[in-house]
Amino acid sequence: MSLFGTNGVRGTANEELTAEMALDLGRVIATLKPGKIAVACDTRISSQMLKSAVVAGIMSAGSDAVDLGIAPTPALQFYCKRNRIPGVVVTASHNPREYNGIKFVQENGAEFFREMDEESERIYLSKKFRVAKWNEIGKLLSDECVEGYVNAIVEGVSLDRKYRVVVDCGNGASCFTSPEILRRLDCEVYSINSHPDGRFPVRNPEPVEKELGLLKKAVVDFKADFGVAHDGDADRAVFVDEKGNFVPEDAMLALMAKYYVEKNKGGIVVTPVSSSRCVEDVVREAGGEIVYTAVGSPVVAKVMLEKKAVFGGEGNGGLIFPEHLLARDGGMSIAKVLQLIEETGKKLSELVAEIPRYYTIKGKVECRNREKLLSALKKEFPEANHIDGARIDFEDGWLLIRPSGTEPIARIYAEGKTRQRAEELYNEGLRILKRILE
Ligand code: MG
Repeated sequence: MSLFGTNGVRGTANEELTAEMALDLGRVIATLKPGKIAVACDTRISSQMLKSAVVAGIMSAGSDAVDLGIAPTPALQFYCKRNRIPGVVVTASHNPREYNGIKFVQENGAEFFREMDEESERIYLSKKFRVAKWNEIGKLLSDECVEGYVNAIVEGVSLDRKYRVVVDCGNGASCFTSPEILRRLDCEVYSINSHPDGRFPVRNPEPVEKELGLLKKAVVDFKADFGVAHDGDADRAVFVDEKGNFVPEDAMLALMAKYYVEKNKGGIVVTPVSSSRCVEDVVREAGGEIVYTAVGSPVVAKVMLEKKAVFGGEGNGGLIFPEHLLARDGGMSIAKVLQLIEETGKKLSELVAEIPRYYTIKGKVECRNREKLLSALKKEFPEANHIDGARIDFEDGWLLIRPSGTEPIARIYAEGKTRQRAEELYNEGLRILKRILE
């Protein structure tokens, strides 16, 4: 298994992901991209330790490190884009509290693309780092990235009425940005879990529906227009409507895709093959075009850049607004949802009800031979989309079988217009997968 997964290097802090590794990863990026490098981290207990090691690695290779402190991933990315410098973020995003991760960012603000991660890995393994002479060691600079990020988000939004919003920061990096974004937009803000705490005492960093009971209740009690929750590094945002119902992430992706295509009178929307058909349905109906990619936000961003897409994102709350930043952005997602409600004059539940409904079933099976599975899938389904495993589309649903990029498992996704159809497709997929793996 490679060092760099779908989103950089991840592992349990101080066991799998050590200070020594962080030091070498700092050396790697400074070897690849000499000059100033921005560094930020999330609120995890291990983050400051790992960030310090990354900083030492950068300086030892003769580059200056710009310490941005604790900040959401998109805030660091926006700083990188604005200052045309690369960056490093120390975060395990949505993973449980004992994990951490290190991710590299390009000068344009996008995450490193796959081939850049591969080159980083080659340097990491060969240990051919730049080493500065004693008098050429880099400097430690410090700056902040939150204010510029918040300003850029609120600048583009104009609201005529006052909105009530509940925000669940999950004790992560969004504590420093999302409540502030909402206040600056003159909303009445009710924030929960909004102090930074790397123990994540109330909920897991991943904002899945079962973790959001408190948010749902607060939205109803506070009579809010909606609620929003982030993952640990706030590149993702998920929503609860004014009735306290969780908004499926795919439905939010479709809503935003529709909004962008309508606004641009067409255009390309990019999303992974694992996304719900509801996205394709609304994009087509609005006169746009859908382009599917492999799973993972860096490849979505890369294809968005190549195709000059108007919008893109993943069905996990990761939405990409390319005019602002070529990366998932939880803070901007809040601003865009407010804008959408303002412009349509509809409640969030009404907007979600306009999105076609599909039923999805996901599962996984142990699979230790990725290459074998991929070639077997090509033989089994010659007509399928093979950009990431095999996606087979039918009139009333689809099936996707793909090996995971980070774990020794194969994933099955099935979606249908009815639950029964989704189950049929899922069982068919499971049967074929088991036969292939035997
Ligand atoms: Mg994240």
